[in-house]
Amino acid sequence: MAYKITDECISCGACESECPVNAISSGEGKFVIDAGTCIDCGSCADVCPVGAPVSD
Ligand code: SF4
Ligand code: SF4
Repeated sequence: MAYKITDECISCGACESECPVNAISSGEGKFVIDAGTCIDCGSCADVCPVGAPVSD
């Protein structure tokens, strides 16, 4: 299981530093989660202002 970031992302960057395993990085028009690194903790969803990270 992993989280993914939907197109709702406004690229604010708030989630990147919250990820304990550094799975989040800036991508094309939105931030992206490396599914192989994500440990499904939900911290990114907790801090996101637009609810873009969702459990896949
Ligand atoms: Fe990182 Fe946790 Fe979000 Fe996965 S769910 S990307 S481990 S903050
Ligand atoms: Fe995108 Fe939400 Fe992360 Fe901000 S906190 S970069 S809006 S996913």
